[in-house]
Amino acid sequence: MARRRRPDTTLVTGGRRKEWRGHLVNPPVDRGSTILFDTVQELRASGPGLGRYYYGLHGWPTQWALAEALTELEPGAAGTALAETGLAAVTAALMAVLHSGDELLMVDSAYGPTRHFCDVVLTRLGIATRYYDPLATAEDLEALLGDNTRALFLESPGSQTFEVQDVPGICAMARRRNVVSLLDNTWATSLLFPAIAHGVDISIQALSKYVGGHSDLLLGSITANSEYYDRVQRAVWDFGHAAAPDDAWLTSRGLRTLGIRLKRHEESALTVARWLDEQPQVARILHPAFESCPGHEYWKRDFKGSAGLFSFALSGGDSAARDHLIDRLEMFGIGYSWGGFESLVTPAEPIRTASSPDWEGPLVRLQIGLEDPGDLIADLEQALGAYP
Ligand SMILES: *Cc1c(COP(=O)(O)O)cnc(C)c1O
Repeated sequence: MARRRRPDTTLVTGGRRKEWRGHLVNPPVDRGSTILFDTVQELRASGPGLGRYYYGLHGWPTQWALAEALTELEPGAAGTALAETGLAAVTAALMAVLHSGDELLMVDSAYGPTRHFCDVVLTRLGIATRYYDPLATAEDLEALLGDNTRALFLESPGSQTFEVQDVPGICAMARRRNVVSLLDNTWATSLLFPAIAHGVDISIQALSKYVGGHSDLLLGSITANSEYYDRVQRAVWDFGHAAAPDDAWLTSRGLRTLGIRLKRHEESALTVARWLDEQPQVARILHPAFESCPGHEYWKRDFKGSAGLFSFALSGGDSAARDHLIDRLEMFGIGYSWGGFESLVTPAEPIRTASSPDWEGPLVRLQIGLEDPGDLIADLEQALGAYP
């Protein structure tokens, strides 16, 4: 048994098998659909799986190298399936474990399109979704389990509002009660929160964000333990999900620098958030590393750091004034997604049905990129100066 390497080393070595990269440092980007066999016997003997040439849907070293590196970053994981977007990874993972008549417990702070899929598609398939408060404890959630509850979905920290959940406690309870746990781990990545080691059965990442890191691709991953990996991979193929070679290759390239980029995102985001916290126009910072963040104690206990995405609540003003503030910013692109090298801003307008957030005032979400934080602060200062 090879000694398990530390994550920063795995970022460099992961997936770079000699038989996949040849004499070069990186596995190549190969494009194709058909795999050719020499004989019918060879064709018949083949099948899908990591390391087995079969058909374009199932990939070749360009995709396998990325999947293997992502698995290596998750102690306890059995494998990783790739899908063409983060959302496809979320929906394929849900479809892998849910059946008609089942109930899903979904965190109320989930990514919007995840919520939409549950409300529209799962409902149509006869699968009920019940939303729960992101601050619910394992005990609270155990009390919510019904006879048909099959799966419990977590997202920690939550989209837009950043509540941190007791992931290990909740997942241990779920396992005891024979309920599968799924986590959207896009904010933290495996580096800041190795999910499988914390008891999660199925961990999903939108690789479009930090792992890709350059705002130039869409891709998603599902990493699972040995109990669930086969059925997740099977569902991904059954729905025809695949990772395009160029996007997989770019994501592998992004992965090599994920560690240093995340550190810089973290430091700059903390610098900006601490500055914002002192401004009279700012009522509250919603950032897992701040004590004011619900679930901060879980972040402190479980996470190895923080990422570059957070929100803040403005003091006074209304959503129109908030929108004008955003329009005045010059260094921040206005647009969805995050995790790239550049700073972004969006209005945050969380949908909640099972919980009521306890702040007042409109919310702004910032993705802090790799620019000099001093320039970002100067920009925020000019924009806030005219608020409301
Ligand atoms: C962006 C995002 C997704 C979806 O990723 P895409 O690649 O854009 O489909 C899923 N979950 C979270 C938390 C996200 O931020």
